[in-house]
Amino acid sequence: MTRTFERNGKLVVASHNPGKVREIADLLAPFGIETVSAGELDLPEPEETGTTFRENAELKALAAAKAADLPALADDSGLCVGVLNGAPGIYSARWAGPKKDFGFAMEKLRVSILEAGTHDTSAWFVCGLALAWPDGHVEYFEGRVDGELVWPPRGDKGFGYDPMFVPKGHDITFGEMDPAKKHAMSHRADAFRQLVDACFKS
Ligand code: IMP
Repeated sequence: MTRTFERNGKLVVASHNPGKVREIADLLAPFGIETVSAGELDLPEPEETGTTFRENAELKALAAAKAADLPALADDSGLCVGVLNGAPGIYSARWAGPKKDFGFAMEKLRVSILEAGTHDTSAWFVCGLALAWPDGHVEYFEGRVDGELVWPPRGDKGFGYDPMFVPKGHDITFGEMDPAKKHAMSHRADAFRQLVDACFKS
């Protein structure tokens, strides 16, 4: 049975990225959930050794829950390309190199698709969300948004691979889209809706 989260409880956001922590805290505030970040608690950052979004999200959430003795929420996300068998996937951030150069990562993507010798540019973003408790129990949810990749990249409103990604049913990239509109239809929104419905409601 799905384990639900106690109302007015405290939750660790298992991330050292202040932008991500703020976004998650804002999403959970309406449910009376107080959040504290792994960074604020000075928790060690586990190495992402998993081979799936699920494994990485779960290992981050479990490490934080056990270290802080509190429930913890972690995410792992990325862009998957059909003709590349789902790459870059969990390695999306790593494709941008140590300088986090997404211009470089997007060029690498364009060349890889060209080398695959096809006009199929279908792709999807995935967001895996894991909620773990100190006793080792974990709930996992996965959100997804489908679309097509375009070249050259367009728009500067987003981050990462946003300028190359046109969501299904639209003709502008996530990079050109109003952020509120993107946030309402994104893989992250999809995963959070599932999490809230299963663990935070009633
Ligand atoms: P994470 O923070 O380790 O989950 O890495 C996620 C990586 O996937 C980011 O660095 C981006 O490269 C990519 N990514 C995930 N979500 C998005 C998105 O909404 N737009 C653009 N890129 C994304």
